[in-house]
Amino acid sequence: MEPRLPPNDHTIMTDASQRAGAILTIDLDAIIANWRFLDARVSPGARAAAVVKGDSYGLGAAAIAPALLAAGCNRFFVATLDEGLALRPLLGQADIAVLSGPLPGCEEDFLEAGLLPVLNSRDQVDLWRDLAHNRGRSLPSVLHVDTGMSRLGLRYAEAESLAEDGDTMAAIAPVLVMSHLACADDVAHPMNRQQLVAFRAARALFPGIPGSLSASSGIFLGPEWHADWCRPGAALYGLRPNDQGPNPMTPVVRLDARILQVRDIDAGECVGYGATHRADRRGKLATVGVGYADGLFRTLGNCGWGYLGEHRVPLVGRVSMDLVVFDVTGLPAGLAKSGAMINLIGQGNSLDDVGKAAGTIGYEILTALGNRYHRHYLGGSRS
Ligand SMILES: *Cc1c(COP(=O)(O)O)cnc(C)c1O
Repeated sequence: MEPRLPPNDHTIMTDASQRAGAILTIDLDAIIANWRFLDARVSPGARAAAVVKGDSYGLGAAAIAPALLAAGCNRFFVATLDEGLALRPLLGQADIAVLSGPLPGCEEDFLEAGLLPVLNSRDQVDLWRDLAHNRGRSLPSVLHVDTGMSRLGLRYAEAESLAEDGDTMAAIAPVLVMSHLACADDVAHPMNRQQLVAFRAARALFPGIPGSLSASSGIFLGPEWHADWCRPGAALYGLRPNDQGPNPMTPVVRLDARILQVRDIDAGECVGYGATHRADRRGKLATVGVGYADGLFRTLGNCGWGYLGEHRVPLVGRVSMDLVVFDVTGLPAGLAKSGAMINLIGQGNSLDDVGKAAGTIGYEILTALGNRYHRHYLGGSRS
């Protein structure tokens, strides 16, 4: 048994959004709009699936995947068996493919839950074939071939010998042959075409089976990369697919954190652990109740920022576990006060901006978002 905190039997006078130190707003309609935009953008005949691994990149797959299903998406990718098991009851008959594939001993769980295993190695192929033999029927799967990423997937020679093994091919009945691009966010990278050529060669081994090559960024490389199914994740959640021009995706996430207190600081006084910020003049500080335990990267110390209304306010000092301090000197009277919200992710500070400032990528900002936020879903079937 997992140890659990005892049930809370106090009478709570406030609602959760009032109590929360910070509110994470997730716009389901924006996610749906992004999926529709991508599904319309891929070549005629191709479709967009939805990658909802990592709890939909930290935003809540239990809300997002059913909203996408209702919008017409009927193929989903998760990373792990447990993620697939959790989503199965929420997604009707839609395909759920599990990118990590079956671990030895877990293959029956895929079958019982109606999950499609992605077969990434000859070992996984054999595991699935043996189960199919054991059940006396062919069992559908997704076949992953490596085209240059050297992470998961059959090497070309392995794919070639599998293609010649008619008995195994009949048993594992692939519904999709997939691969994954290593450098698609860099549109000029030579790997993009090399992998496309390698993917075409691998697909030629399996005539008649639909193909899938591109995730979010690959969709923007052009129609040659679209094959039959694209697998966007990041772009659904508003992340920028590449550095070309303005971000075509609609923003999905907004994070607002409450000011706990406003205080004066004199010239020469320091802020936070390590005293890494020293005020050079009299000023005002706003202390906010979020920190690195909420996924606010510690690397944002002295370089992050937020918005109080229209005003950009610099993050000063280090990020603590549960607290962070902003310099609100010189703002119009009454703006900085306890209970007011500072926007940490939003219009003037996109996930990609915050990722860059933190020395990482927007993907990591998203998946690090903590569990202490009050989560507010807009739109979808909940509205
Ligand atoms: C994570 C992942 C995706 C989605 O990638 P994005 O860049 O988030 O669109 C697609 N395919 C595979 C194999 C992945 O691991």
